[in-house]
Amino acid sequence: MDVSSQLRQMLLERGASWVGFADLAGIPAEARREMPRGVCIAVALNPGVIREIADGPTPEYYDEYCRVNSQLTALADEAADFLRTAGCKAWGSPATVAGLDSDTLWTPLPHKTVATRAGFGWIGKCALLVTERFGSAMRITSVVTDADLPVGQPITESRCGECRACVEACPAGAPSGKAWTVAMKRGEFFDAFACCKSAGEQSAAQGIPQAICGRCIVACPWTQKHLSRAMS
Ligand code: SF4
Ligand code: SF4
Repeated sequence: MDVSSQLRQMLLERGASWVGFADLAGIPAEARREMPRGVCIAVALNPGVIREIADGPTPEYYDEYCRVNSQLTALADEAADFLRTAGCKAWGSPATVAGLDSDTLWTPLPHKTVATRAGFGWIGKCALLVTERFGSAMRITSVVTDADLPVGQPITESRCGECRACVEACPAGAPSGKAWTVAMKRGEFFDAFACCKSAGEQSAAQGIPQAICGRCIVACPWTQKHLSRAMS
């Protein structure tokens, strides 16, 4: 079995829900630590917990968010170790927002960018990764590497169509309703500061120590399709 197949099998056996590979050409070299490719690792969120956050975050959602973030961080470390043992360079990064610039709410290489390039999905009007497989009910991390991996077909345009479910569900008015394309900066279609402020207020009201919301996750019809499949 080649390195990519072994890596995918190892990650799936350890609890990943989805593993893909991305060509990072065209991204500034510093942001990708001079590495040409990325490994995208997804873990699906518990559908029963996601179903309950239509009116805002719950303590159960926060626990699930933390659990999946820890799992993703461990998986990224294991993937990087695996690749280094195979003689490649590799660098994993945590699933959480460590490294996020508090002035811009931006990070040099968002996991979402690696995910769209791996062909997992597109960026929704709510600025979340949206996939046909799990909607947005998943969290992701990524590893950059020089390993020769079979990269996916990048997704460069929104598949949201005329849908506005997340726009209407958002209490902060953060999504403008404009659809993403790969050439757009996030600020052209989404107000991350309004999202963060509202998420912080909603979390505080529930005694949750981190700014999370998730109403747009469960509002999305792609998430709803996934939840129906998963709960049937
Ligand atoms: S997480 Fe909440 S506040 Fe942020 S965009 Fe989604 S619905 Fe709006
Ligand atoms: S709710 Fe609709 S508009 Fe928003 S991300 Fe999902 S498909 Fe796109």
